[in-house]
Amino acid sequence: MFAAGLQSETNTFAPWPTGARAFEEGGMRRGAEVLAGQGPDHKTAQLWRELCLRDGHEFTAGLFAWAQPSGPIVQTVYEAMRDEILAALRSQGPFDVVLLFLHGAMVSTGCDDCEADLVRRVREVVGDKAVIGVELDPHCHLTQPLIDAADAVILMKHYPHDDYLERCVELYGLCLAKARGEAQPTSALFDCRMVGFYPTTGEPMASFLGRFAEVERQPGVLSVSFAHGFPWGDTPDTGSRVLVITEGDPALAARLSEQIGREIYAAREALLPRFLSVDAALTDALATPGLVVVADTADNAGGGAPGDNTSLLKAMLDRGIAGAALGAIWDPVAAAACADAGVGARLRLRIGGKSGLSSAQPLDVEATVRAVRERHDQTGLGNSRTDMGLSVWIEVAGIDVVLNSIRTQVFSPDAFTGLGIDLAAKKIVAVKSSQHFYGGFAPIAAKVIRAATHGAIQMDFAALNYVKKADLNYHPRVADPLA
Ligand SMILES: [Zn+2]
Repeated sequence: MFAAGLQSETNTFAPWPTGARAFEEGGMRRGAEVLAGQGPDHKTAQLWRELCLRDGHEFTAGLFAWAQPSGPIVQTVYEAMRDEILAALRSQGPFDVVLLFLHGAMVSTGCDDCEADLVRRVREVVGDKAVIGVELDPHCHLTQPLIDAADAVILMKHYPHDDYLERCVELYGLCLAKARGEAQPTSALFDCRMVGFYPTTGEPMASFLGRFAEVERQPGVLSVSFAHGFPWGDTPDTGSRVLVITEGDPALAARLSEQIGREIYAAREALLPRFLSVDAALTDALATPGLVVVADTADNAGGGAPGDNTSLLKAMLDRGIAGAALGAIWDPVAAAACADAGVGARLRLRIGGKSGLSSAQPLDVEATVRAVRERHDQTGLGNSRTDMGLSVWIEVAGIDVVLNSIRTQVFSPDAFTGLGIDLAAKKIVAVKSSQHFYGGFAPIAAKVIRAATHGAIQMDFAALNYVKKADLNYHPRVADPLA
């Protein structure tokens, strides 16, 4: 068996391309490096290897690469990683089974569907007899060419994606069964004609997880996946889809994918995120007793936003809100200036607003440097650690602001407390994140408010400026697109 991984969730509305440095910062690992570490890439490769060795198969790890999302990947960078995987398949093969840990929303400057491109080329190398299995993030553009090129595609079901290892095991089992001639996975895709945002920690999505499991228990059904889609990747295939894999029964796969797709579609109004405006969110926060967490949902680096939008901070400063904290504004230059000035320094500082239109304007402030940490980090998903790089705590008119140098969303309170900021004494804590902050912050908050902020991943799906998306007949742009 051969395994490889190539992941980034390309935000085509983000101002900057994703280049080689982004993958070097995120992680490019090969062979033994993949098998020693604690990130999702490592854990996936380790698990597939363990299953192979358990069953008496050989295991070869190729390149595993990940980058914090930004704009389209520089074509030569994508091709170099793709070709490295293909070269390893040629030089180290032949292989009976190839498992790929991909994202599904990777767009390069020359290709809207990198995953289908990669898998088609893998097929050319390994031939029709080899089995190709693909695991994807649900925030993918799930396309027919990808389904056609692979033998089996399985998506993570949870958002947050804490189930990626369970899906690894499923994919391994299905692909090994096919390789032994004991399974004939047959796939069908249904286009829900929806663009949306579907956390599975609450309703209605929590109940749909139960529904998917119920269908998977039916005779002849091998797998059910819901592709949430990635709204901020403008491609011909952007949108939400249902994928069902059956045991050699295309009619059953088609019938069930449509049936489940229409059930999700029927809930489309309830599934739409309805966030308060920034003003309403701040008013609500001030009127609520206790600590309130306000999420800057549109400037989430995890979805490819720059993380240097200043609008929410400006709104808080304009209203004279003190006793608040806000983080993290990605500004390596300002962070370095503060670090050089030193703790206790008071200086005029221009912060944020530099990456492009989605960042709003830079803010000129009087700042006092309260703390400097050269290699700051925070608790990430599943108790992993997430680097924040050189980070500083500055105080601006009663608001404690975190500036950082490695672009990342805020996952956990230690993004603040790790610099010495006392959140217990705060009225408002504003975090740049859409959903992954929830597990860490909900326990310390009297209330969590997701605000409809300004930025690169705004949630008004009807208003997204799609140029490439082929079908603009989608909800919520159209009330009933399947009618
Ligand atoms: Zn995702």
